[in-house]
Parts: sequence; C-alpha cells; structure tokens
Amino acid sequence: MTRIAILGATGSIGVQALEVCAAHDDLEVVALAAGSDVAGLIAAAHATGAEHLALADPAAAADATAALGRPVRSGPSVLAELVVESGADLVLNAVVGAAGLEASLATLNAGRNLALANKESLVAGGELVLDAARAGGGRILPVDSEHSALLQCIGETPRDQIASLVITASGGPFRGCTRAELAEVTVEQALNHPTWAMGAKITVDSATLMNKGLEVIEAHMLFDLPYDQIEVVVHPQSIVHGMVRLRDGALIAHLGHPDMRVPISYALTYPQRAAVPARALDWSEACSLDFEPVDTATFGCLRLALEAGRVGGTAPAVLNAANEVAVAAFLAGSVGFLEIEALVADALDTVAPVPIDSLETVLAADAAARGRVAARIKERVA
Ligand code: NAD
Ligand code: MG
Repeated sequence: MTRIAILGATGSIGVQALEVCAAHDDLEVVALAAGSDVAGLIAAAHATGAEHLALADPAAAADATAALGRPVRSGPSVLAELVVESGADLVLNAVVGAAGLEASLATLNAGRNLALANKESLVAGGELVLDAARAGGGRILPVDSEHSALLQCIGETPRDQIASLVITASGGPFRGCTRAELAEVTVEQALNHPTWAMGAKITVDSATLMNKGLEVIEAHMLFDLPYDQIEVVVHPQSIVHGMVRLRDGALIAHLGHPDMRVPISYALTYPQRAAVPARALDWSEACSLDFEPVDTATFGCLRLALEAGRVGGTAPAVLNAANEVAVAAFLAGSVGFLEIEALVADALDTVAPVPIDSLETVLAADAAARGRVAARIKERVA
C-alpha cells in the first residue's frame, strides 16, 4: 500500500491522478490540496476519504471547512506541512507554477518520494530540489510525459553512453505561423491545443513553446546532462514522447497515444506498472509520424528559456516567474500573445541573475521578476 498526497488535486493532472488511484487498491490517497477550488476539493475528499485537506486560499478553506464539517487547512506553508503531517510515502506535486517549489522541497527533505508534475519547481529551484533529494533520500519521479519517457528510455544506460536526450514538441496550435500571425492570435486560439487537454497556463506555454523551454531545463536538472546534449524536435502527432540518442547512433524512443494517465500511473506505481485504460496504438491502421525542426526564431520564448538555462543561477527562476505573470495577463486579455515573450525578455534583462544559495535567493528573484512584469503591464495598460 502506498500512501499518496495529491497537491493540485482539482486540476487537470490532479483529477487524472485521482482516477488512476481509484483504479488501484494499493494506492491510498491520504491528503489533498488545491488553490481555491472549494467544490473540486470537496468532491475529491468525498471520492477518496482523504483525511488531510488544504486549500491555499484562506477564504476558500473556511468555506470548505463549513461545507465538509471538518478542518480544511490553510496558511503560508500549508502544502509543506500537509506533506509531512499526512505521513504520505509519495507526494504528487501537480500544483501549477513556482507556488509548488516549497512543497517539492518539503517532500524531499522529509525523505518522501516526489511524483513531479510541477516542472516549475525544477526550473525555479532545481539545484535546491536536487540537494533536498540527496539530503533526504527521496526519489524524484517525473510526471511530465517527455521526462517519464526519457527516464524509461535511459533505463540503466551509463551517462557516458548517451549522446543526447531528444524532447518532442507538438508545436502547439500555432505551428508554422509567422511572427505577424502570432501578433494577432486570441486567447481562445491559444487555448485550443491540438493534442493535449491541460490546464490553461501550460496550454498557453505550449502555444508559445515556453513549455518546451521549461522542459529542457527540467531535463537538464533531472538527468544531469549539459544543454548541448538536449535536443528538441517538433512532432505534431505527440505519439513519440521522448528519445535517447546513444553513442553508437541508435535512438531509443517511447511511444503511445497522448494520455497523461500513463506517465502519472508510472510515477505512482514505480517500479511496478499498472494497467491504464489508455487507447492503444493500433498497427492494423495506417499511421504516420512526422518530425520537423523547431523554429526558435519565431517562437522566442523557447530561445529565452534555453538562454536562461545556460546562464543558470536565478535566471530560470526569473524567466519562470515573469512568464507566469505575463501568461496570466494574456489570459486576462491585458496583453497580446507576443508580449509574453517581450515581458519575459525584459525581466531577464533587468533582474540580474545570482547564484542560488538558498530558497530565499530564489524567492527574491521570483518576486523581483513578478514585480518588474506587473509594473511593465501597468505602464502598457495605463
Ligand atoms: P491546472 O491549472 O489544471 O491545475 C492546477 C492545480 O493547482 C489546481 O488544483 C489548483 O487549485 C492548484 N493550485 C494553484 N495554485 C495553488 C497554490 N498556490 N497552492 C496549492 N494549489 C494550487 O494545471 P495542470 O494542467 O494540472 O498542471 C499542473 C502542473 O503539471 C503544472 O506544473 C504543469 O506544467 C504540469 N503538467 C501538466 C500537464 C497536463 O497535461 N495538464 C502535463 C505535464 C505537466
Ligand atoms: Mg510535457
């Protein structure tokens, strides 16, 4: 029996994880947390019988407490506290944004295993997360489909036999668009992802290709390979999730119809495998797989992420925080699609990177970037 805490339980990944847990008797959900979705948390609490509950938003927590007739906690460090107090063996961090970083650190510092969907943890504070894993002895199991695929393709292969890791990108809804076309795209178009149904923030990140940039940084952290050994290729069908290029020229690939329940299940049941009711690739039907080079001239967010990754220190935290604020503004209709990239570039130019020596350093860089972008948006809107 594995005792699981699900953080971000009401979101796209969280709800699919609840489905995976419900189908397996040996996965017991003991704790649930979300941001402000009272109805979602109550539904998940009823479905799982989880004892430990939290909502980041205090007013939402008070409403949920009244509705459930038992405490739903809140407070500044509530996710980190929940992880420890619930006694979970495995924590699925499916919170969106850098808000998930402290819970990742608390999980690993407490020696618990971390099923990590919250890639922003590794982007903003990767070195701290890896240090916490080493110190506490917990394992990081990636939930991101590409990284789950890479973990499986790498297997026991020694690092010196790996030439590169290849991360596939669907290309998003604007694959093939020009800069002039991107300048005109709407929120509705950006939210219409061709192959994956996901939360709004990651869907916009997939349209700008920032998501692929965050994933390259995530792969650099998880698999300890330099940036020039991590490739990105556009693959519109999202059937091949990741590939490992070996020293002798062989490529090992991981395939499947896009369905996040597969990598979620892998992370929750590792090193076992459980049955998942995902659609199977059917070789009795004709099918083709296309690959094309990625266009970093048009999709500048990917280029900025790769640059920030190479700079290191707090540069990826600045990139990530600036992107979170810019994407929220785009979703709110305050800025255009290409302004996301301009705002992130401006934050990277103005918030100087420093080496990461503590969580406080990361949080200060994150706050400085958020402040800078918010101020620029205010100027533009005014
Ligand atoms: P989502 O927006 O659907 O859900 C986010 C969840 O986080 C919700 O439960 C929300 O209530 C909770 N949350 C938000 N702020 C919080 C806070 N401050 N404290 C606690 N909980 C908070 O997002 P999603 O698409 O499920 O993505 C979650 C994470 O997984 C992201 O980091 C994303 O990049 C990653 N991811 C998602 C997918 C996918 O298919 N959706 C695939 C790969 C990686
Ligand atoms: Mg991914």
